[in-house]
Amino acid sequence: MEQTLSIIKPDAVEKDQIGNILSRFEKAGLKIVAVKMLHISKAEAESFYEVHRKKPFYKDLTTFLSSGPILVLVLEGKDAIALNRKLMGATDPAKAEAGTIRKDLAESIDRNAVHGSDAPETAKQEIAFFFQPDEIFSKEPPHRKKGCCCCCS
Ligand code: GDP
Repeated sequence: MEQTLSIIKPDAVEKDQIGNILSRFEKAGLKIVAVKMLHISKAEAESFYEVHRKKPFYKDLTTFLSSGPILVLVLEGKDAIALNRKLMGATDPAKAEAGTIRKDLAESIDRNAVHGSDAPETAKQEIAFFFQPDEIFSKEPPHRKKGCCCCCS
């Protein structure tokens, strides 16, 4: 079992696509174990996307992420990180496979509807960026052995 962070970005919230996207997660077998709607500041967006600070699109990306309400979610399931990224589709909607969220709902690489963590370590950091441990309602039975999985380290 794995957890990943998903963000429904301002463009998809504006277009009333929250329900559409959540139902895709649930139909694919991902459990929604934490959720909140937020309007983050430019400084928070800059901190979240720190890894891209030197990229030419950093300013536009962080302005966009802080431009309106977003939904932040923790998704849980088997191979949740890869499964969520498969459901999202390629970063550029023009290159995304048919039936993916970005192909169906996004208009451009700058306004591409969703974010999803790309690896276990980033998932851990990104989940902690938005959620306290007691805000996450895991469906997994409590683990007993230290180091038995990614969340029991
Ligand atoms: P993701 O994991 O598919 O969201 O992609 P990344 O983590 O690499 O990039 C974060 C976000 O930055 C993407 O979702 C895009 O909105 C934006 N982005 C990434 N690469 C480019 C690019 O080459 N040009 C522009 N304009 N935006 C980009």
